[in-house]
Amino acid sequence: MSTSLRSAADHQRQVAALIASRHADGWPAEVVPLTQSRDRILAEPVASAEPLPAFDNSAMDGYAVRSADIAGATAQAPVRLPVAGDIPAGAPVGDLAPGQAMRIMTGAPLPRGADAVVEVEATDGGTTTVTINEERASGSFVRTSGADVAVGQEVLPAGTLLGPAPIGVLAALGVREVSCRRRPRVLVCSTGSELAEDPDPTAGQIRDANGALLAAAVEEAGGEALRTLWVADDVPAFLALLDEAVAHGDLDLVLTSGGVSAGAYEVVKDGLGPRGVEFVKVAMQPGMPQGSGTVGGVPVVCLPGNPVSALTSFEVFVRPALRAAVGHPVEQRATVRATLTEALTGPPGKRQLRRARLDRRTGEVSPWGPAGSGFLGWFAGADALIDLPADGGPVAAGSLVDVWDLLAR
Ligand code: AMP
Ligand code: MG
Repeated sequence: MSTSLRSAADHQRQVAALIASRHADGWPAEVVPLTQSRDRILAEPVASAEPLPAFDNSAMDGYAVRSADIAGATAQAPVRLPVAGDIPAGAPVGDLAPGQAMRIMTGAPLPRGADAVVEVEATDGGTTTVTINEERASGSFVRTSGADVAVGQEVLPAGTLLGPAPIGVLAALGVREVSCRRRPRVLVCSTGSELAEDPDPTAGQIRDANGALLAAAVEEAGGEALRTLWVADDVPAFLALLDEAVAHGDLDLVLTSGGVSAGAYEVVKDGLGPRGVEFVKVAMQPGMPQGSGTVGGVPVVCLPGNPVSALTSFEVFVRPALRAAVGHPVEQRATVRATLTEALTGPPGKRQLRRARLDRRTGEVSPWGPAGSGFLGWFAGADALIDLPADGGPVAAGSLVDVWDLLAR
């Protein structure tokens, strides 16, 4: 392996440190309505101002009683109590006189004086008089106020990923808006004089795939993709547009694609290299040429232009770095060990991330499409990446390999 190549793991660490450095004193926060907070990261802990449950209530459909009134009850020697009334869910808190029972529904407030609920199954279900066949200890089938969440308790710590249950408990506690870490604001910049503006490329021109692809990848990673900048292979024009966007964008990251390899018109490398952005070769296929640095104080990550390389590079370097920077609890794509259905050999000295299809029922994985980086159509039909280590040698069919599950969030 050539000593001039940087390992993928080293470049990943470099990009992670770069993006985290944007807000070294803590990622900025913003207030978000609870109804729009799914998949966001809580910026501050939430303490409850109220108990949950809010009041003592019944855990079962049954009868609210004083436990002392039914002490010793058995099927052979049941206790009969008059039924003083019904307590449906939503009723106000009533009173239970000694020696009486009240029919109570799940979630209805326990009447003052009662200290237990006898589930309907342990009774004859009577509506004027109830026959109770088993005794119940004080507290039986009572959901005590504050037993789930106590007043003043930290119910969710900072850094919580807001999924259904956290959003649900906040709704139950009456919280309507939450302080969340700002989604990383990412400017996507596609480069290349061959890129045409939709819809009608002229001869020799192509449509911009990377703008849409990287914007979608940014959003899927939890970021916010700002407008896509499109620039021709013209260094002064590229720098002018970039400087303008950086000066006015309040950006957390600039992502460029194209113009970083060894051709004659490498607009990103030629424009940003002299400004101190570092361009390196990474021992990875696809995605060997990479760049990273800052522009106007904003981190910039320069990805190769081939769409397959750009997306694979995003997966390996940028996605985990964005998530780490905002404190997302899941930085890395979920990986599984799967059984390879055909033999594979990676390129010598390079880690290979090979498009694949993963059968999640059988645990088998099959390479999908050719190894070259010009096959976006094939990538579109893949749902996984086989991660072959550098210098791993040939891998036989039937071997267990590491697979990134691209359908896992
Ligand atoms: P480059 O690294 O700029 O030489 O680009 C490598 C290959 O990727 C070339 O074939 C480009 O035409 C292609 N390419 C670069 N940028 C894009 C893009 N935004 N959309 C689709 N293809 C691209
Ligand atoms: Mg180019």
